[in-house]
Amino acid sequence: MSLSDEELERYARHIVLPQVGGVGQRKLNAASIAVIGAGGIGSAVIPALAGAGVARLTIIDSDVVELANLHRQPLFAEADTGESKAALAAAFVKRLNRFVEVDAKRERVGTDNAKMLLSGHDLVIDGSDNFATRLAVSDACVALAIPLLSAAAVQFQGQVGLFRAQPCYRCFVGDAFDADDCDNCSELGVLGALPATVGSFAALLAINMIAGVGREQAGQLHLFDGEALSWRVIRIPADPGCRACGSG
Ligand SMILES: [Zn+2]
Repeated sequence: MSLSDEELERYARHIVLPQVGGVGQRKLNAASIAVIGAGGIGSAVIPALAGAGVARLTIIDSDVVELANLHRQPLFAEADTGESKAALAAAFVKRLNRFVEVDAKRERVGTDNAKMLLSGHDLVIDGSDNFATRLAVSDACVALAIPLLSAAAVQFQGQVGLFRAQPCYRCFVGDAFDADDCDNCSELGVLGALPATVGSFAALLAINMIAGVGREQAGQLHLFDGEALSWRVIRIPADPGCRACGSG
């Protein structure tokens, strides 16, 4: 696959990077990525991936825009309240880069539909707002052998981790959160600029991974402290008894 003159110009600042080059850019131009959640994390991830020229983006979100979203979700404006986030995010992608094939799914991901929605993608990025969705997504990614990039931001804390087969996200959080009533930044609060920081980091990791830049990141969790303004990295151990990826 060769790039047209227009694509060469569009991606020139990528192609000139020795770590990316034409080879890395063509990998990006061939990648199919599902993004779950067009909220605060998605508002950073989706424009970055669209700008980078991924081949196909599937944007999955069942919510509509609310006024309380606008302090952290710059994909949307006041006039968008009540409208589908997935549809608005897809329209944004189309405006930004017509080379990206985008598909909006106004659905909530659960154990019943996760495999069907995520099958066929090279990478899944989860920026959803609850553990039940995150665990359903993780189990589906393990079953489908799709790498999962999980990103979360709440209060002043952010975390980004890449999961590839083992350890999986369920190894990290355990089984206690399958119920649908655990977390939510509507109750806990979130600083407006935090999801952009965390989402941009997740996008960087995703783009590096697809373009073949840097070291393997799977099994590591990057933690951001928005009060101390610092990142640290921990290694996630595999749980041998994990009911998704282990022998349990
Ligand atoms: Zn596991």
